[in-house]
Amino acid sequence: MPTESDTHYDPSLGNKFIFVTGGVMSGLGKGITAASTGRLLKNAGFDVTAVKIDPYLNVDAGTMNPYQHGEVYVLKDGGEVDLDLGNYERFLDIDMTSDHNVTTGKTYQHVIEQERAGDYLGKTVQIIPHITDDIKRRIREAAAGTDVCIVEVGGTVGDIEGMPYLEALRQFAHEEPEENVLFVHVTLVPYSKNGEQKTKPTQHSVKEVRSIGLQPDVIVGRCDDELEPATKEKIALFCDIPTEAVFSNPDVEDVYHVPLVVEEEGLDQYVLERFALEDEALPAGERANEWREVITSEKQGCVDIALVGKYDLEDAYMSIHESLKHAGFELGVDVDVRWVDADEMNADHEARLEAADGIIVPGGFGMRGTQGKIDAVRYARENDVPFLGLCLGFQMAVVEYARNVLGLEGAHSAEMEPDSPHPVIDILPEQYEVENMGGTMRLGAHDTEIEPGTLAHELYGATSCTERHRHRYEVNPEYFDAFAEESMVFSGTAGNRMEILELEDHPFFFGTQFHPEYRSRPGRPSPPFVGLLETVLDRTDAAQNPHAEHEETEVTY
Ligand code: GLN
Repeated sequence: MPTESDTHYDPSLGNKFIFVTGGVMSGLGKGITAASTGRLLKNAGFDVTAVKIDPYLNVDAGTMNPYQHGEVYVLKDGGEVDLDLGNYERFLDIDMTSDHNVTTGKTYQHVIEQERAGDYLGKTVQIIPHITDDIKRRIREAAAGTDVCIVEVGGTVGDIEGMPYLEALRQFAHEEPEENVLFVHVTLVPYSKNGEQKTKPTQHSVKEVRSIGLQPDVIVGRCDDELEPATKEKIALFCDIPTEAVFSNPDVEDVYHVPLVVEEEGLDQYVLERFALEDEALPAGERANEWREVITSEKQGCVDIALVGKYDLEDAYMSIHESLKHAGFELGVDVDVRWVDADEMNADHEARLEAADGIIVPGGFGMRGTQGKIDAVRYARENDVPFLGLCLGFQMAVVEYARNVLGLEGAHSAEMEPDSPHPVIDILPEQYEVENMGGTMRLGAHDTEIEPGTLAHELYGATSCTERHRHRYEVNPEYFDAFAEESMVFSGTAGNRMEILELEDHPFFFGTQFHPEYRSRPGRPSPPFVGLLETVLDRTDAAQNPHAEHEETEVTY
């Protein structure tokens, strides 16, 4: 997919900004709507970036529980951020940095540090103008060098925490030429009991937006179906915008279809017109089309992958789900992911594990669920089931092998069992002194050297790779020799660090200390995921697989 802008954007036009707010309730998928619009602008030849504003007081998402917030997404610079940034990276095919995630924690920390340093000497430091100025500065800096910057405000308009951001956006728009800023408000249009599309929640939320001094230019109504013409007219009339500025965003079978819906609705065209960018955009017939080609690629059958994790929540493993989809696009197969509870491996979950065509043990922290993960690794290893272990999954594969093949009784990770007689996974030396929890792991992109002639070499097609990390523990160097005597090969290393493992006498047994799922994109799937599915397809004729019925799930994002 193209990563460079194909047009020569005239810098005198200035950066264009799309500010996206949400009304009625959170979880409407305004990020997906915004990212989809961005994707279409990118297809039209513009450099597009995004900023996600998270009004919470945490400095970053690193310390947040995945059960509440979904997965912690890791950026190449090591930023631990909200999973929405993963969506922007996947939809826009860009690499973002921590500066693209603005949080209340970061903003206040910076302003307070400046105050302590004496930078405001004599002044009273206040939310307006000091916090709002800092917010505006962050948005301008993140947008620098691009054509269009999408700024999404997390939460819902009216939340107390979001107020300084909305005030900052109001000021920002005031300071910019009118044609450079567009406010998009994403809201819910529910059905009444008798099947009528109801606009009152939208009216109320727009009233709230206007009371803060903002007027939406565009309203996107999330609804089960497309908005009826009468619904659009009603919203337009009561919210004081043209009917052409009201768009539907109905439920679709997969989030990757949203750009197609948005295009059909004409939202991208409307944005281009409002920004007076029609002449700068590639003509409709010449716009990049890879997205559509990739996501609508033909599928033959379906494979079942067991995901052995702690959380019964798709968002907690979002990037893994997405990576499997990307590999499926590439190989022309649908993937059903079955959650297997690592913490309570009852008969039901065992049956799911045994029915699966392949097994993934994902990353994680803490003791809970580790025995289930170790059991799942053993099952995959002994029964020749294709297996992919990611971070903690890699570490548990090492533990399982140490216990059951090398005969090291009581082998474990020092994270789970500090007094283990065989700490085959031990704390990273640089972590001894670390006390704070936030932002202190081995984080972000690091290079791995790949041993020629190995499975890793075949998958990556290179003798090195750069993938993102998030861990405190690693394979204990004292045990390297013991592993070298058996069939577990560490085929990827970084100095004295073991990064990739594979088993010589198994169809596909692959583990990575890093998280390949954070770099996977539609059209550029991650090699370990492609390798897993390829092996599954080689072993089972997926089209005739008895459990090959793909369960269409409506996406409720
Ligand atoms: N808990 C393990 C560590 O800190 C694995 C981390 C992970 O899976 N992201 O090393």
